[in-house]
Amino acid sequence: MVKKDYGIDFGTYAKDYPDEDGRFGPYGGAYLPEELIPAFREIDRAYKTICHSAQFISELRRIRKEFQGRPTPVYHCQRLSGLLGTTQIYLKREDLNHTGAHKLNHCMGEGLLAKFMGKKKLIAETGAGQHGVALATAAAYFGLECDVYMGEVDIAKQAPNVSRMKLLGARVIPVSHGLKTLKEAVDAAFEGYMREYRDAIYCIGSAVGPHPFPLIVRDFQSVVGFEARDQFVEMTGILPDAVVAAVGGGSNAAGFFHGFLDEPVDIYGVEPLGRGAARGDHAASISFGERGVMHGFESIMLKDDDGEPAPVYSVASGLDYPAVGPEHAFLSDAGRVVYDTVSDEEAMEAFFKLCRYEGIIPAVESAHALAYAMRMSRENRVDSVLVNLSGRGDKDMDFIIEKYGYGEEAK
Ligand SMILES: *Cc1c(COP(=O)(O)O)cnc(C)c1O
Repeated sequence: MVKKDYGIDFGTYAKDYPDEDGRFGPYGGAYLPEELIPAFREIDRAYKTICHSAQFISELRRIRKEFQGRPTPVYHCQRLSGLLGTTQIYLKREDLNHTGAHKLNHCMGEGLLAKFMGKKKLIAETGAGQHGVALATAAAYFGLECDVYMGEVDIAKQAPNVSRMKLLGARVIPVSHGLKTLKEAVDAAFEGYMREYRDAIYCIGSAVGPHPFPLIVRDFQSVVGFEARDQFVEMTGILPDAVVAAVGGGSNAAGFFHGFLDEPVDIYGVEPLGRGAARGDHAASISFGERGVMHGFESIMLKDDDGEPAPVYSVASGLDYPAVGPEHAFLSDAGRVVYDTVSDEEAMEAFFKLCRYEGIIPAVESAHALAYAMRMSRENRVDSVLVNLSGRGDKDMDFIIEKYGYGEEAK
């Protein structure tokens, strides 16, 4: 990758990027059907006013503490660190955030924004169901209606998450055309939003989509990075040498990285290599992709021969997205964040090691970031590395045991 000089000042980065048009350098923007332009403009204006209001800030702070259980701890993996090399591995425990993953951080922010805007309903699509559950949780908390569009194939595969959404009072709307998975659900959710945008707000599941969503999601997730930085310094007296996060669409990584962009810390984003480098076997957008426009924004993405979103694969269903949020494409170009890959096999090894050596069952998505930290440790590249453990693994357990058993060391 040839590093591009965008002349970024990381001291003022959060204010400078994205710009008024939602651009991170050449990436981002909002490619929308005519009818939706006013709706997205309304969200942009409302967010930029409301996010500075003392009432909004203090309300969100209270919710984070009392409802979500923040701050989540930073934890030193003493047994795992000693096992591999001299690098000390630390975890930011987003698995202990309410609902067991980082997604609630932006869903609670989006719900509060909806409330301040006087909206009555939250609308979203979901693939594996994780975003749907987090959003349904926010809707229940704020007393808002919630419509979650989901492909029929995914509904059949993700029964527990469908049950959770229904228990939380959300309406799960089956999408029965095309391949009946996430892509069709995205289209259906946009159509639903187009019909109802006066009373509803669309809530995206990652730091992707048209402006202002990459900005909003990153801001709401950045609590993770700033907490982690302060906690790490309080624990050890210094900053970590490196921080690592897994990148699907890029929400947990964007928020985590924000705490460190202006610090002398190496930053790594980990993309899923899946079964290997052939098209269709991975979802490593930055590592193998090209520039393009998809789902309403410009970024780096994986395309097929017709320029359509390419088929992708990862053992981690939360990472199998054929593009990456525009901010990651920008930070990669600028050379501030290094993006690398981890295969299914390496991620699963890290998964079993964390279970066995630390008593923590991680999400398979998060295991990708941990696997990269373990690789750094084996190569003795740094003294300390802080991993964003984006979620817990309960959701993956049945599937893992069926496919991989209990790990080679289980007797
Ligand atoms: C959804 C999910 C991810 C991937 O999404 P990002 O937007 O890239 O953060 C990672 N980890 C967990 C636990 C998830 O649920």
